[in-house]
Amino acid sequence: MGVNLVDARAAAAPQSLTPDRPVAIRDSSGQIFLLLELASQPCANCRFGTVTHTLWSAPTGHAERMNWCSSCFNAATERCELSDAEYYRLTRLRDRFLAERQIECWSAARLAIDAMQRRGFP
Ligand SMILES: [Zn+2]
Repeated sequence: MGVNLVDARAAAAPQSLTPDRPVAIRDSSGQIFLLLELASQPCANCRFGTVTHTLWSAPTGHAERMNWCSSCFNAATERCELSDAEYYRLTRLRDRFLAERQIECWSAARLAIDAMQRRGFP
């Protein structure tokens, strides 16, 4: 049909992104969480910062949303339920996580995202 699929998908894509490789954090109790979604938008609190929205889940499906602003104290963590699509994404990333021999595990969500962005994601 001559339609460029990549362009069409890019035009329709929402602001959020999903990493295709596992990105992991480990909390103080040793629980691993995998990044399922990353998005950003202008901060409604300070109006000049950018809020990073992240969705993380333990391999069991225990999921949390963690959001923070780049410049003010607007930050939150809340427990959430995964949708079917998010759970499917978790199972795929979990399989890859278990299959890979070396995965960096960050101690905090913000450190993981900062490192991803330094490496060019998105
Ligand atoms: Zn802010």
